Amino acid sequence: MTEILEQVRVRFAPSPTGHLHVGGARTALFNYLFAKNHDGKFLLRIEDTDRERSEESFVTEINQSLQWLGLNWDEEPLRQSERMEIYLNTATELISTNNAYHCFCEPDELDEKRKTAQQNKKQYKYDKKCRNLEKAEVEIRLKNGDKSAVRFAVPNVGETVVHDLVYGDVQFNNNEIDDFIIVRRNGTPTYQLAVVADDNDMKISHVIRGDDHLSNTPKQLLIFKALAVKPPLYAHLPLIMGQDGKRLSKRHGAVSVAEFQIEGIFPEALLNHLALLGWSPKDDTEFMAIDELIRRFKIKDVSKRSAIFDYKKLIWLNGQHLSSKSAEELLPIVSTDWGITLDTEIDDVYLKKVLELVKARAKTREELINFGKYFFEDPDSYDEKGRNKHWNDNSVNSNVRQLVKKLEELNSFREEKIEEVLRSTAETLGIKAAELIHPVRLALTGFSVSPSLFEIMELLGKELSVRRIKSALNKLP
Ligand code: GLU
Repeated sequence: MTEILEQVRVRFAPSPTGHLHVGGARTALFNYLFAKNHDGKFLLRIEDTDRERSEESFVTEINQSLQWLGLNWDEEPLRQSERMEIYLNTATELISTNNAYHCFCEPDELDEKRKTAQQNKKQYKYDKKCRNLEKAEVEIRLKNGDKSAVRFAVPNVGETVVHDLVYGDVQFNNNEIDDFIIVRRNGTPTYQLAVVADDNDMKISHVIRGDDHLSNTPKQLLIFKALAVKPPLYAHLPLIMGQDGKRLSKRHGAVSVAEFQIEGIFPEALLNHLALLGWSPKDDTEFMAIDELIRRFKIKDVSKRSAIFDYKKLIWLNGQHLSSKSAEELLPIVSTDWGITLDTEIDDVYLKKVLELVKARAKTREELINFGKYFFEDPDSYDEKGRNKHWNDNSVNSNVRQLVKKLEELNSFREEKIEEVLRSTAETLGIKAAELIHPVRLALTGFSVSPSLFEIMELLGKELSVRRIKSALNKLP
């Protein structure tokens, strides 16, 4: 079952009735990883048969989100709305082989029966009233213009087994499967029919999708069987939950890919977190770039336990991906906010050093920008929490003044020297080094957190460091 002999062809099949959410993006990613891991093809299919709920703007957004994530598809995407005839022909074929039939039951009549079943606390199933109509009668009614839906004739006995690559074998009794509709009374094909016709035409080898579709799979397998074609293999992915164990939704925070993009999350980080939703490489590795994900991804390592979307982990991963970027990659991200043009008067070496320093600490784009700003301009204010905590009375001023004196005497303004001076000054004053570090950080950066203070000071240089500290001494507490 796990040996793959034919060419792998998988598809992501979103319905453009909303934004591309975390769940859909995870499905797309797992398909992509599986395809690339097997030198196969990753295809896109837009399931837009529901004309009322589908919107062109969502198609555009889904495409953009996939491209932003780097999940580029092979071949021309398929659009279901352009293939209506094909589905209807498939339905006709199924009718001609007695695997489907016209159902003339009126909606009101069916509603009545549904209600009765509910009242009797029974699960409603169509009573197959039209399944055995005489051919001649059907012809006459169709000629008369009687409206009909087309239903699939599910075998009355036996069972359908889904050999799922994640869930294992899942059995469904055929007599519990409703004679489901494949063409509605208004002449439009349903999802079950279109999916099978498409998966067949696209030569899909593996269907990888959310486990909310597991119950659709026996129906699709039955259609494949009726058409006498080999079905694809199936893998259903576990549900995604929020940290409270409830199904992930807006309440938990951002859920659409576009929102994460606006928030400044890097696509690599989002992909990395999505990959870990239900899959793991079977060791503790968490931080992985796309190449490693492709190399290590195995369907058999997907778990059926529901996965938890963890915003904190996403931010952590974002920081990891941020620090793995080169100064050249980061420069365009920060240049506007730092007020530097790329052929700037600040020399490259300085800029590169700043980026190297800052990227190691920053977890988000915003932090990267904030942590670096003060290398290019004096802080215009001091973080209030930091002020209250670290520079709340004049004793700080006299301590810092002592330090400034020592710093001014330094000939070589190197990280180690600065640290040495700061620690020895603290010792002389009988205070903890932190009691100088925190106020000086505030003076130099305006923030109460930053990358290593001594590195910052070396980079800023003696003149600028001393000037900023003196300026703070005049303004604080
Ligand atoms: N259009 C379906 C959905 O968005 C996908 C169906 C499938 O993958 O078979 O849930």
